[in-house]
Amino acid sequence: MQTHLSDEFRDTPDGQEAEAILRKCVHCGFCLATCPTYLLLGDELDSPRGRIYLMKQVFEGRQPTRETQQHLDRCLTCLNCETTCPSGVQYGRLVDIGRQVVEAKVARTAADQRQRDWLRKGLSSPLFGPAMRVGQSVRGLLPAALKAKVPERRDAGRWPTREHARKVLLLEGCVQPSMAPNINAATARVLDAAGIQCVLPRGQGCCGAVKYHLADGAGGLKQMRANIDAWWPHIERGSVEAVVINASGCGAMVKEYGHLLRNEPRYADRAARVSELARDLSELLPDIVAALKRRVRPRAGMLAWHAPCTLQHAQQLRGGVEQHLGALGFELRPALQEAHLCCGSAGTYSVLQPELSLQLRERKLGYLIGERATERPEAILSANIGCITHLQAGTELPVRHWVEVLDEALRSS
Ligand code: SF4
Ligand code: SF4
Repeated sequence: MQTHLSDEFRDTPDGQEAEAILRKCVHCGFCLATCPTYLLLGDELDSPRGRIYLMKQVFEGRQPTRETQQHLDRCLTCLNCETTCPSGVQYGRLVDIGRQVVEAKVARTAADQRQRDWLRKGLSSPLFGPAMRVGQSVRGLLPAALKAKVPERRDAGRWPTREHARKVLLLEGCVQPSMAPNINAATARVLDAAGIQCVLPRGQGCCGAVKYHLADGAGGLKQMRANIDAWWPHIERGSVEAVVINASGCGAMVKEYGHLLRNEPRYADRAARVSELARDLSELLPDIVAALKRRVRPRAGMLAWHAPCTLQHAQQLRGGVEQHLGALGFELRPALQEAHLCCGSAGTYSVLQPELSLQLRERKLGYLIGERATERPEAILSANIGCITHLQAGTELPVRHWVEVLDEALRSS
């Protein structure tokens, strides 16, 4: 696509990156078929191609409007369009840049701004954990909308204490330790059983995705630098072989550190090394299967599998969890249709766009367990705390991280 950047953007790194991405788009429209918001709304401006066109106009000098901003807000950043695009258009990078530009030019209503500020600051605040515990203690009394965001408290169980020669850094995450502490503990136990030790360095925190995707680039980058500072002594010593992330949304972000910090002399090399070492937990499954094959007693019954967009589209990791858990004897079944579509969680999307988010959740649950599915599963498995919490709020069936189920199967063996 021909583009003519305005003077404002022509010589900036973001402008040049946006231009390179825009030029790759040939307007073929293949991406429309897999875009959830286009599927629900049927409006070209709520499709990847439409949004690309809107952003092109902004980079060429047109003043964005509140409508422009709303079309960008309605995007889930699910990156289904990137998987579909035959021309390799990096839509995700473009929309992150575009959102920050539009945010600086279009004022939001006071209520909208307050909500976004709360999400940016609240989710990674040290007060989130205590607030979640208070919410969990009065969960039964909460209004339905709030109750849906507060999962029941579950005991994390013991943390392994054995030392192993093989060590990995484990990103704890910001909301996960208080919302579902068992996921990190189960990760540590499963890896320990496979002869790998999890190291939790002081000073690490939120991966930066919440702020970065809410158009607070500076805030997100600050959190990324803090994580690199916390991890670097271990990486520099060569005492760890990977940075393991068990929430696919955070993993997708950490794999971007190298690109996002490429222009910062102090951090560029370290960030690139961190991204090189970043692994979604499922990427360790071949080692886990090899070590534990004879020790795992899988639970009986079929388990529905929901692959988060951040796993299958952002990280392009497809089929691994089903294949490797299948090798251990578990029976996993993906959604019968639309397995490639977002469940509507999408980070803070379920809070900011509740109507679209709920429509997508109902569709997803329909294909996983509802009248559209043929056999009712014992549970739903996924790989991202956001999807797990969001889906759990729509069903009585347990929704778990796959590592929790593997951990239980090991403990009962
Ligand atoms: S599929 Fe790719 S090239 Fe075609 S319109 Fe969509 S983004 Fe552009
Ligand atoms: S990221 Fe998802 S919602 Fe956004 S344009 Fe692409 S396919 Fe549509």
